[in-house]
Amino acid sequence: MEIVAFPHPALRHESKPVKRVDASLRQIVRTMFDLMYEHRGVGLAANQVALPLRLFVMNLAADPNDGEEHVLINPVLSRPKGSAEQEEGCLSFPELYAPVRRPEAISVQAYSLDGEAFEGDLDGLVSRVVQHETDHLDGVVFTDRLSESHQLAVRPTLDEFELTFQSRRQVGEIPDDVEIADRLTQWEREYC
Ligand code: ZN
Repeated sequence: MEIVAFPHPALRHESKPVKRVDASLRQIVRTMFDLMYEHRGVGLAANQVALPLRLFVMNLAADPNDGEEHVLINPVLSRPKGSAEQEEGCLSFPELYAPVRRPEAISVQAYSLDGEAFEGDLDGLVSRVVQHETDHLDGVVFTDRLSESHQLAVRPTLDEFELTFQSRRQVGEIPDDVEIADRLTQWEREYC
């Protein structure tokens, strides 16, 4: 398992709700935390490891020995309030940062790995991370949400990502679109 970078097609996949959790899915979640910590991230969505599962992991401390680990399965956001702009980055866009405007506060409902439903009203950093990760599950990436001027500013970097992706694909490091789509469908059959 590895973190896939833009423009990998899995990042544009709209995830279907997860219907069951088993030992392998728990192991996948553990590996997602490990990858997230390895890259000093605060959140990682299943799309970012090329899995079509509606879940993400989060630890605002970005440190396995600090903060709290959260797994949000089938998150649903509601009641957006206010508006705030803050710089964001993403493990699928290494070293790219840009300001994103989002609702300041939101409510979230989700399930834990143990199948317990929970809900909360969030603001500040945790609200932003939950919105960023839930976007991933809908196939939306943070650069989609930039203002027009920031879109222009990041364009050359996105073009570089595109070139890197194509050359990795040419040497066989990344499967073609059909194979990626087949793999996503297999995972969906098993868990969604
Ligand atoms: Zn991201």
